[in-house]
Amino acid sequence: MGMNDEHTSLTLRDLGLEGITEAELREIEKNVLFSTFDQIKAWARSNSMWGLTFGLACCAIEMMATSGADFDADRFGVFFRNSPRQADLMIVSGTVTKKMAPLLRRLYDQMAEPRWVIAMGSCATAGGPYIRSYSVVKGVDQVVPVDVYIPGCPPSPVALIYGINKLQAKIRYEAKHGKLVGLHD
Ligand code: SF4
Repeated sequence: MGMNDEHTSLTLRDLGLEGITEAELREIEKNVLFSTFDQIKAWARSNSMWGLTFGLACCAIEMMATSGADFDADRFGVFFRNSPRQADLMIVSGTVTKKMAPLLRRLYDQMAEPRWVIAMGSCATAGGPYIRSYSVVKGVDQVVPVDVYIPGCPPSPVALIYGINKLQAKIRYEAKHGKLVGLHD
């Protein structure tokens, strides 16, 4: 952000630059960035989210396709890892059964912090077609805090990429404004 950014309250006088010319000012604005350490961390984190390899049902096929050559989630810094200890993004892609819920929570607890969760598809969001089933959790937000919900049965890889982009924007917004958006534990 430059010196004229609406969120930057610094003036030329504050910086001891009252005497500079217009041309010098334009040159400085092109080359000098103002930011906070939190914003830089958020920028780095949002561009290097490592997802936990973790699929529960049919939505997982679309998630796998997202990391394949056609859609290439690597473009957004999303790599899938086999260990929760190396992951900071959980994409819940599929039906969460009551039997699976404690294991899902354990994996979440083992992930590095800060960590984020995307509920992918109708099942993960609210139980989906199995909402009346005795064995299905009616939304994974009953088990872990969810940052982004993606509707669909199943959502396409493009929809998942859109959700990832929304999560990236959320991470940067929270760092910039110093407040959380949505539910967190
Ligand atoms: S939302 Fe649809 S596609 Fe996804 S896991 Fe549930 S039934 Fe399968």
